[in-house]
Amino acid sequence: MSGTIFTKIINREIPSDIVYEDDVSLAFKDINPQAPVHLLIIPKKEIATINDIEEGDSELVGHLYWVAGKLARDMGFADDGYRVVMNCGENAGQTVFHIHLHLLAGKPLGWPPYTDRMKKA
Ligand code: AMP
Repeated sequence: MSGTIFTKIINREIPSDIVYEDDVSLAFKDINPQAPVHLLIIPKKEIATINDIEEGDSELVGHLYWVAGKLARDMGFADDGYRVVMNCGENAGQTVFHIHLHLLAGKPLGWPPYTDRMKKA
């Protein structure tokens, strides 16, 4: 795998607003926020989609959720509630093929998260 723009963020080849990092994961602000708080939590390992997660990645993927909860507590919105979602493939609108959790917070979030375009489809 040749890497995506997220590999460049991990390697500091392009700028990003990083809010958390450890040996295996990184969290940074989404460049096009869809909520007052919109963070992306990624593994440093390159995994293209949910379909490419292997059994041996289970701990790593679970770790991403631990990071989400930690950030929610540390940033003060854990009790208010928030959404964590991972898109997979075309129908979900995945645009960067390096798995990432979207962490959305800071306002009541609509559900289901369909757009008008999707409703007509
Ligand atoms: P997805 O559509 O689920 O693949 O989400 C990809 C997300 O990456 C989108 O919300 C983009 O706004 C975000 N994104 C793309 N490039 C960057 C970047 N350079 N820095 C931060 N977020 C980015």
